[in-house]
Amino acid sequence: MALKIYLGGKLVDEADAKISVFDHGLLYGDGVFEGIRVYGGKVFLHRQHIDRLFESAKAIRLVIPMTPEQVIDAVEQTVKANNIGDGYVRLVVTRGAGSLGLDIRRTSNPQVIVIADTISLYPPETYTKGMNLVTASTIRNHPGALSARIKSLNYLNNILARIEGTDAGMVEALMLNHKGEVAECTGDNIFLVKNGVVRTPGPDAGILEGITRNAVMQLATEAGYRVEECSLTRHDLYVSDEMFLTGTAAEVVAVVSLDGRTIGSGEPGPITRDLLARFQALTRSGA
Ligand code: PMP
Repeated sequence: MALKIYLGGKLVDEADAKISVFDHGLLYGDGVFEGIRVYGGKVFLHRQHIDRLFESAKAIRLVIPMTPEQVIDAVEQTVKANNIGDGYVRLVVTRGAGSLGLDIRRTSNPQVIVIADTISLYPPETYTKGMNLVTASTIRNHPGALSARIKSLNYLNNILARIEGTDAGMVEALMLNHKGEVAECTGDNIFLVKNGVVRTPGPDAGILEGITRNAVMQLATEAGYRVEECSLTRHDLYVSDEMFLTGTAAEVVAVVSLDGRTIGSGEPGPITRDLLARFQALTRSGA
């Protein structure tokens, strides 16, 4: 069935959801976005995603022509109009149409677009068996060049690393930062467990501060685990007891090998499984 898309302040048919070829979102990747899950018809951690969208926009000096409350309402309207029970929302704000030059003063009408659709998940065996990873040679953007905390429409850095993962037969790839430390995966944050302690790189490692990451850190703390944000090397990952990734689409997924090294027992570890169960309970709680 054709989707209803939110565009230009109203819901339009998918076939009519068109924007200008002069939009700087297309010409330069100049814009910001969010990927948000819907569980049981409810938009999950909605406020956190809207806050991050507005922070990304502020960082690139893009004024979203709506209030956060109006954007929340637009997302909810779109989810309802498409009858989404369990699904995925792509919320996009472009710079708007401009001239064939970089000057943002020559652009107007930033476009707020909401697409609400079903979601394609990793195959079920990824969750029961865990995934294998390789380290990409493409490093994460230097934060002095483009902060990874901005969820911008320019994902080429991540796409180039993902191609390396795909070439190696894997669905994700690990990215290091400009200092050679562990940063994150191409579309997911990364965690390790060592001697019962849960560790993940901090925002200063040059990562996107994932909403799922933050929720899982809070759940882990509430469950009594020690949780640390610290700089990590690949060695720390190789000798960890457990590894897992977090992301809006992935939720919590175990990693059982990295660069040919088996992680822990080679199966999803007990703390990873516990945190996945706690996260899934949160998704069912109406949060
Ligand atoms: N890092 C990157 C580069 C991502 O694109 C994403 C997914 N949007 C994440 C991490 C995970 O973030 P979140 O939990 O907010 O989906």
